Amino acid sequence: MGLPLSIEFFPPKTPEGAEKLRAVRQKLYALQPEFCSVTYGAGGSTQEGTFATVREILAEGQVAASHFSCIGATKASVREQLAQLKAMGVKRLVALRGDLPSGYGAGGEFLHASDLVAFIRAETGNDFAIEVAAYPEIHPQAKSPEADLKAFAIKAKAGADSAITQYFYSADAYFRFVDDARRLGVEIPIVPGIMPITSSTQLLRFSDACGAEIPRWIRLRLQGYGDDVESIKAFGLDVVTELCQRLIQGGVPSLHFYTMNQSVPTLELARRLGLG
Ligand code: FAD
Repeated sequence: MGLPLSIEFFPPKTPEGAEKLRAVRQKLYALQPEFCSVTYGAGGSTQEGTFATVREILAEGQVAASHFSCIGATKASVREQLAQLKAMGVKRLVALRGDLPSGYGAGGEFLHASDLVAFIRAETGNDFAIEVAAYPEIHPQAKSPEADLKAFAIKAKAGADSAITQYFYSADAYFRFVDDARRLGVEIPIVPGIMPITSSTQLLRFSDACGAEIPRWIRLRLQGYGDDVESIKAFGLDVVTELCQRLIQGGVPSLHFYTMNQSVPTLELARRLGLG
């Protein structure tokens, strides 16, 4: 074992998806995750979907972290949701600004995730451990890399306990981001978010929008495999294993796996890294 790890799920949309995710979770619990996080609002999922999955994880005896986005929300609605989460026994949150679906205006009483972090701390003290998002390859809406880094430092200092990064495939980008954040006085752990590579179209489509860069050589290799899923998986496993090995050698505090609700890629990575 050794290095701690955490794992992330998204709320399933159908009863079949929920059943499948229960089996996936049981397999992944073998890794003894520090916590299991559940996304919120991503891809049109609802608050109820997130809360239902969080409840199940808690009932299974695991630590659950509920993602919590504040865009478009009022202070009253956030206060109400925090009370619900506390009553459920949640002790860990991933505090996010989130993104509005296209066609919606901004509105709401929170501009940035840092406003949410400060509000949670002011309202609930130390009831929740708070994770925030970090972008080693720069958030897509950032005015400049420097502005993004400063915004991250403000968010960390607003009361975050720890950060999880957007996924990336350049270890150098991560280490430079951590060095830069430390120079700005950010002391919290910055945990790399690890996205296994299992399909090329999904990854290539998703990455541009979320501030993650697929290096040209990876993009071209993936495109070269066409529909050959087995080759994509084998290549992806090699690339991500090597990335994690570099991160571990560089002294990362932990690894956070974006499981995409599948057990095999994360289990195989953990096995290769000697974490499973
Ligand atoms: P912020 O930290 O508020 O940053 C957003 C932008 O505003 C950045 O460009 C930043 O530079 C700028 N900014 C921030 N603060 C300031 C400031 N004080 N002054 C000026 N500019 C500022 N999305 C979901 O919908 N659901 C999820 O469950 C989810 N989980 C995620 C988990 C992780 C680990 C990560 C990395 C991302 C996740 N996302 C999720 C995506 C996230 O919601 C989007 O990337 C969103 O666009 C930004 O959210 P944030 O919390 O990083 O925002």
